[in-house]
Order: sequence, then structure tokens, then C-alpha cells
Amino acid sequence: MTLMDEIVINPEGTAETNNLMTGDSYLESLNDGREIWFDGERVKNVVEHPAFRNAARSVARLYDALHDPELKDDLTTVDKFGNRTHRFFTPSYSADDLIKSRKAINIWQRLNYGWMGRTPDYKAAFMAQLAEGHSFYEPYGENALNWYKKFASQGLHINHVLIDPPMNRGKGRAEVKDIYVSLDKSDDKGIYVTGAKMVATGSALTHATFVAVNSGTAARMEVGRDEDMALVFLADMSSPGLKLISRPSYEMRAKSPFDAPLASRFDENDAVVVFENCFVPWEDVLIFRDVEKTKGFYASSGFFNRFNLQSATRLAIKLEFCIGLMIKGTQASGTNNFRGVQAAIGEMVAMRETIWAMTTAMVNDPEPGIGNSVVPRLQTAAACRIYTTNAWTQVRETFETVLAGAPSFTISGVSDMHAPELDHIINTYYQGTNVEGRDRVKFFNLVWDALYSEFAGRHGLYERNYAGNKDQQRLDALRWSTIRGDINSYTGLVDQCLSDYDANGWVHDRWK
Ligand SMILES: Cc1cc2nc3c(=O)[nH]c(=O)nc-3n(C[C@H](O)[C@H](O)[C@H](O)COP(=O)(O)OP(=O)(O)OC[C@H]3O[C@@H](n4cnc5c(N)ncnc54)[C@H](O)[C@@H]3O)c2cc1C
Repeated sequence: MTLMDEIVINPEGTAETNNLMTGDSYLESLNDGREIWFDGERVKNVVEHPAFRNAARSVARLYDALHDPELKDDLTTVDKFGNRTHRFFTPSYSADDLIKSRKAINIWQRLNYGWMGRTPDYKAAFMAQLAEGHSFYEPYGENALNWYKKFASQGLHINHVLIDPPMNRGKGRAEVKDIYVSLDKSDDKGIYVTGAKMVATGSALTHATFVAVNSGTAARMEVGRDEDMALVFLADMSSPGLKLISRPSYEMRAKSPFDAPLASRFDENDAVVVFENCFVPWEDVLIFRDVEKTKGFYASSGFFNRFNLQSATRLAIKLEFCIGLMIKGTQASGTNNFRGVQAAIGEMVAMRETIWAMTTAMVNDPEPGIGNSVVPRLQTAAACRIYTTNAWTQVRETFETVLAGAPSFTISGVSDMHAPELDHIINTYYQGTNVEGRDRVKFFNLVWDALYSEFAGRHGLYERNYAGNKDQQRLDALRWSTIRGDINSYTGLVDQCLSDYDANGWVHDRWK
């Protein structure tokens, strides 16, 4: 029996109930027989496996925070069904709610220094909205509402897979049906699906995977052709026929926290999800063979507006951390007072401020969402998505030019720190400006892990791509501004200017 089967859904309107998981119950819930493949073997218990162990504990720490008397009020609230939940796990009904949600996201992200992209609050951007938007999914609306209740009351951790494997991008989805997730059959118990999705970040440590298509793919789907792929559902991670094929683990490769202080605990992993005749009960189906709904759910759910608030808040914390690294690194090298170095750090500070200001705009200037909810304004979210996915490349470049080669002036690993013969060498030659040799090595190992390690390389790829391919991000911004009438107003401005004059001179008296 899985965690989700055990849940008792509280009747609406009862007094507050707190069923939120603790760190321990979260870890326990992951030992459910899920099929994860790593290094040629099936993982027995993900929580104890060296590839996933510490990342699981980093997520568990977030759950413990929900029960911390010091943090509880800032992190949680009571939803309209009487369940205590994380503030972002339930819809916001005012700007003030959104401000408080951002604070809750902020508190969680600080616990991981912004280095885990898919903490449970990420998918809360979508799941929370089911409380108000469940009727969109009729005739499966009740499933959507029940999922909201399960999700919010326990604070479930849900990953999502929207992207098809990278092949035959030039063809219609139906032509790649043997690879992309599609329906095998359905019966009175549920549906059976086969196909792969790329990739599910953090999935090994989640309770369920949310399966759908992204905006670009959905736009290309056709009624009468793509019904078997027009599916939106949640699959319990222990579903028979659901397999996770893990990528290498940087956590497992980390020799020690000293060598890889971030990778050894924040490597959230990205697995390919393979469904092979995977059974999904009807209760977990939200859209079934409905192309129009599959196209429409993404925009109408408010997910887009909200995930950008979560991810921008996270990135702001990560940038704060990187500014801290940069300040300490330049001090250690004695370059901190150079004008160009200070200018570069100033630019990073401005980037952090810009991202934070965008989140401030998102929470203070929301638009109506589904039901009575409010969500960040669509166009601001779209702009934020483009800015944030560009930002990380610039951060990396700043580190490469400002700290230059300093992070590579290091030792081979923590064992060198324990070799008496190297003691004097490390203390003498590895020291920085006002920093002892051993402390300098420790510090620059952290810089290396953040910016140059395999873990860091994956972060670079993540920040650039997690929100969709570069063109799609820009196409969405244009499409949504067009739909919302902004573009008409912009061309109207030009038309107005053109109408001020003609071949005979000024039309308006003002300039005559
Ligand atoms: C570390 C990491 C973690 C991730 N985690 C998740 C996750 O948890 N869940 C999830 O769903 N996804 C996840 N992704 C996948 C991510 O969403 C995709 O990588 C991203 O959307 C870009 O899609 P793609 O890689 O398929 O590139 P593509 O969409 O194939 O794009 C590649 C290039 O081809 C161009 N192109 C593509 N299609 C067309 C077209 N029809 N016409 C013209 N040009 C086109 C694009 O503009 C781009 O330049 C993750 C990716 C990474 C790297």
C-alpha cells in the first residue's frame, strides 16, 4: 500500500487538520517498491541508495521545516478544506496571499541555497490550482479535486514530464507513437500507456509523476489524429510498468562533502521515465483522449504564471549564494578592490535585484486565475522565464573571468588534507589573502562544485532548458502578448505616429 492510498481525506469544512509529512514519514513513503534502474541494477530502497540518499535527506529537511514552530506560520496556512498545507500548495486569493507564498518558497529555497530546482513547491504551481480549476477536467473533475486534496493535505512531492524524447522533432506526434507516450488500451479499471518521457527531474524522490505535453507540443496536436496521445494523468511512482532509468549520480561520485559540498547532498537526479503497458487507474486520469483539453489545460491552469514565481524566487537565492561566493573568492585572491572586479560583482547584484523585482511584480500585480484565485500576470511570468534562463550563462561567465583560474588552484581530494607530508605545503602555498591554506582549499572546492563540476554543468543545462527550449520561450511571450492585446496596442502606437503626418506635411495642428 502506498502513502497515497493511506490518506484520509478530511470532509470539507471540518476544523484544521494537519497531515503534512515530516522528514521521516517522507523518507519512509519512498520505500514503496518503485522501479528505478541505476548502474545495471534495480534500486532496492532509494532512500538508502548512495546515488540518492542525501538528496532525499535534503528534501526531507524541507518537510521537517513545515513542523518547525519557528517557521510553521510563515511556511503553512489552512486551505479551504481545513487542511494545513504549505502556502504555495493552495491557491492564492489576493496579492497578500501571493506575497506570503513567495516568503514560504523563499524559506524553503534557503535551506538548499537555491540548488534544487524541483523541490515539492515547484509542481505545487500546478497542483494547487486544481482546488479551483477541477471542473476544467470534467468528466474527470472529481479526480482533479481529490488529487488536490491528497496533494495539499500531505504536501506530496510530484515530478512532471512534459517533454517527448528528442527524436523526429520535425514529424507529427502521431508518427512517433511507438516512442512518445500513448494509449495502449483502457478498461473499466483504468488506462494502459506505453512510451517514454524526457526527463523527470527529482522523480526518484517523488510520490507521483504528472504526465502531459508542453505548450509547443500541444499546439501541434490535431483533433481526429492525436487522440491516443491526448492524455493527462498522474502515475504513482510504484505503478506497475513505470520505470525510471537514472542518469549518473554526482552524489555517488562525490568522495566527501569536502570535495563536493553541493553535489553530495543536492543532486536531485534526472531520470528518463519509461511506461511499458503501465496501468493508471481512472482516479488518476485528468484528460482522456481529448485533444482540445490537452491543448488548453496548460494555459488555463495558471501553472505557467505560478511556476515562474517559484523558479525565479529559487534563482534569486542561488544568485545570492553566488554573489557571496564571488565576494569571498575575490577577497581570498586579493582582487576584490580592483575596479573591473567590483563592476562585475555589481552586475551580479543587479541581476539578483532584477529577478527579485520580477517576483515582486508577480506577487503585487496579479491577474485573476481560475475560480476566485489570483495568479502572477502572464506577460510578467513570460518575461521572467526568458530573463532567468539567460541569467545563469552570464553568472558562469562572470565567474570564469573574475575568479579566473583561482578555483583550479587546489588539491586532488580530501585525502590530501590528511597527509602529514602535505600539511606544510597546503598551509604555506595554498593560503589566500587573510585566509589559511586549508580554509582556502575548502572554500574553492565549494566554488568548483557550484560552477565547474559535473553537477555544475548539469545545473547550467538545467537553468537554460528546464522551462522549455529557447525559441519556444520567446514564441510563447509573443503569442501571449498577442492574445492579451499588447501587440495590437504596440502597433497602434506606431499607427498613431504615422497618422501625425503624410506626404503633404503634418496632419495635426500642433506641428503645423
Ligand atoms: C537538467 C534538465 C532537467 C530537465 N527536467 C525536466 C523535467 O523535470 N520535466 C520535463 O518535462 N522536462 C525536463 N527537462 C527537459 C526540458 O524541458 C527540455 O530540455 C526543454 O524543454 C527543451 O526541449 P528539448 O531538449 O527537447 O529541445 P528541443 O525542443 O528539441 O529543441 C532543440 C532545438 O530545436 C529547435 N526546435 C525544436 N522543435 C522545433 C520545431 N518544431 N521547429 C523549429 N525549431 C524547433 C529548438 O528551438 C531548439 O533550438 C529537463 C532538461 C534538462 C536539461
